[in-house]
Amino acid sequence: MTETGKKQGRVFSGARPTGRQHLGNYLGAIKNYVALQDEYKDTIYSIVDIHALTTVETTQNLKQNTYEMALDWLAAGLRPDESIIFIQSHVPEVMELHTFFSMVTPLGKLTDLPTFKEKIRQQPHNVNYGLVGYPVLMAADIALYKAVLVPVGIDQAPHIEFTREVVRSFNYRYKTDVLVEPQMKATQVPKVLGIDGVSKMSKSLNNHIELAATPEETQKRVMQMVTDPQRARRSDPGNPDVCNVFTMHKIFSSAEEVEMINTECRRAGIGCVDCKKIFARNLNDNLAPFRERRAAWAQNPDQVWDVLNDGGKRAKVIAEQTIAEVKEAIGLP
Ligand code: SF4
Repeated sequence: MTETGKKQGRVFSGARPTGRQHLGNYLGAIKNYVALQDEYKDTIYSIVDIHALTTVETTQNLKQNTYEMALDWLAAGLRPDESIIFIQSHVPEVMELHTFFSMVTPLGKLTDLPTFKEKIRQQPHNVNYGLVGYPVLMAADIALYKAVLVPVGIDQAPHIEFTREVVRSFNYRYKTDVLVEPQMKATQVPKVLGIDGVSKMSKSLNNHIELAATPEETQKRVMQMVTDPQRARRSDPGNPDVCNVFTMHKIFSSAEEVEMINTECRRAGIGCVDCKKIFARNLNDNLAPFRERRAAWAQNPDQVWDVLNDGGKRAKVIAEQTIAEVKEAIGLP
C-alpha cells in the first residue's frame, strides 16, 4: 500500500481507437479501468492505434476515432492526473521492443493462435505480416511498461499467456530479469449482448447502444431490443432468464425493480414495452453524469489532445528506461 492507500504495482491495458464507445465497451472494459484507477497507484491506458492498422483499410477516421474514444474514457471517469492516458504511436519504443521480441518468438506459435485463425477467416484478402505479429506487439505494449496486471476480457487470456511466455523467453535468452511477467485480471462482466439479443454488442453489427447517444436516441435503441423470443403476445408469460433486457435491468435498475420484473414478467403482469421503458429511463439516469462530463470536455477539444500528449510524454519516460535496460541485457553496443 502507498500513502494514498492504493496498491503498488502497475496496471496496463489498451484498446483500439473505435470511436464513440458503447455499453459493451463500458461494461467490459472502461468500468474496470476506472475501478482499477481507484485501487492502484499506477495505471496506464493506451489507445492502440498501431494495432488498428493491422485491420483497417483506411485511416481516414483514425484521428477522430481516437479523439472520441479518449473523450468517452475521460467522461467515464479516467482521471489524467492519476492515470496515464496516451496514444500508442506516441511512444515508438514499443516498435523497438516488438522487434526484439520477434527474435524470441517461434512463428508456429503465432500462426497457431485461435485469434489469428479467426482473423484469417474475417479478412482473407489482407493477411498481412503485422496481423501475424499482433500478439508480439501486444506483448511489447505490456512489457515496455513492466505492467504486473492486465485487465482484459476472458477471450484475451491466450494473449496474456503468450506475453508471459515471450517475456520468459527473452529473460532466458539474455540471462536477465529486466522484464516482468504480467498477470491477467479477468473482467467480471458477462458477455454483453447487442440489441438483437443474440450477438456480442458491436458497432460493426450495428446492435450497439452508444454511451454518448442522446436520451431520445437511447430510448429508441432500447425499444428495439429483442426480448424473450417465446413471448409473442402481451398476455403470454415471459421468461426473464432468457431476456437481454432483464440482464441489463440487473445492471442498471434497482433491486426492487429487478424483483418486480422477475415476478411480473413470468405471470404476464408487465408487458415488454413497459419493461423496456423502465430500463431506458434507468439507463438514461445512469448515463446522465457521463453525458455532462462528456459535454464539458467536448467544449475544449484541445484539452483532450493535451491529456493524450502529456500522457505520451509520461509513458515515454518509462519506455525509454525499459528500452535502455533491454538493450543492455541483449548486449547491443
Ligand atoms: S417483460 Fe421485460 S424481462 Fe420479460 S420478456 Fe419482456 S422485456 Fe424481457
